[in-house]
Amino acid sequence: MISALYLHIPFCHAKCAYCDFDSRPLCGEALEKAASRYLEGLLARIDAFGEAGALSEVRTAYVGGGTPTVLGPGLPELVRRVRSWCAPDELTCEANPESFDESMAAALAEAGATRVSLGVQTLDPAELRAIGRIHTAEQALAAVARARAAGLSVSCDLMCGLPGQSRESWRRTLSRIVATSPDHASVYPLTLEEGAPLAHRAETDPSLEPDADLQAWCMEEARRVLGAAGYHPYEVASYALPGRECAHNIAYWTGASYLGLGRSAAGMLGAGEWDALAALLGGEPAGEGTGRVRYVQRDDVGMAFDVERLTAREAVAEDLMLGMRMTRGVGPELLSRARSVAGEKSVDSAVSTALSRGLAAWDAGGRLVPTERGWLLGNELYGLMWDLAADD
Ligand code: SF4
Repeated sequence: MISALYLHIPFCHAKCAYCDFDSRPLCGEALEKAASRYLEGLLARIDAFGEAGALSEVRTAYVGGGTPTVLGPGLPELVRRVRSWCAPDELTCEANPESFDESMAAALAEAGATRVSLGVQTLDPAELRAIGRIHTAEQALAAVARARAAGLSVSCDLMCGLPGQSRESWRRTLSRIVATSPDHASVYPLTLEEGAPLAHRAETDPSLEPDADLQAWCMEEARRVLGAAGYHPYEVASYALPGRECAHNIAYWTGASYLGLGRSAAGMLGAGEWDALAALLGGEPAGEGTGRVRYVQRDDVGMAFDVERLTAREAVAEDLMLGMRMTRGVGPELLSRARSVAGEKSVDSAVSTALSRGLAAWDAGGRLVPTERGWLLGNELYGLMWDLAADD
């Protein structure tokens, strides 16, 4: 059952200095032409999957990018088309403050979007400039207010470890964000991705390198400040008011099948689901021994894909790894499935190592949950779970 749908919009008005996502910086007529051609293709793909019956069980949809709001009226049109095939309880559109005006907020709500995820990153003007964001702090705050006024649930993305960022400026950003009462916040440490302009500049200016200690402090401070304001950390980078968790992201972390459409969109399907849709995804059947298929669309129109076939063992190791990103960790059912697929000895040994290193603990309901240390040393904990993918 495909319960989540992701749609990718690969356009932005300008390229941020840290960005290595698939997004083409375009404006004016060039953007209009490229976006309208792209949208036409994407709508046709949605219809094709809808007609194949692949969208009827979709419960969450997410339009990401890029900057989906650069589509203008095309974005509400896209939302309406999704809603013509399914009835998701949650439908999120990513947006950047400079292209999220009142009419966009109202049109998205009217079309059936329920949630907007705003790329705020920081409210410090110098930090915004340093990372090449084209909006101001005031535009970001106004965008939050606009989304709320339109009746949309709001999430804000924030980043730490930015060039010139200090403990004080991070505290200011956090407290101003908390004052706007978004429903949800995601907090990410900046990483310098190869090929991004900031990484290139950092080669000659080491002061642009993110300071790992400062980032760790910022992540802990975010947890403290957001926690005190009633936001609970339900995932390593995600905070929500009660009942405002992102159901779409939870689908990713709990091994649900999801369909990704559009250039650079990723999808993950069970072997049977893949086989049923292989003709539309340009792929060969999953083949014997495949537990799960992951793919990434590599072109605009849906003719080229990178496909990765996972064994049942790799799939269950991945479920454990993703599950440990979440505060609620993994339950007895998944652990018992993992034991039957990867072997009792291997799973119990990985669990005991996580417990003995203080990375995980048992909660009262018998779930294996990450500890504070496991949250801070996430890669070590996820690595232990992923190692179960390899045969003994
Ligand atoms: S808005 Fe997002 S996708 Fe677009 S350039 Fe900036 S970081 Fe990249």
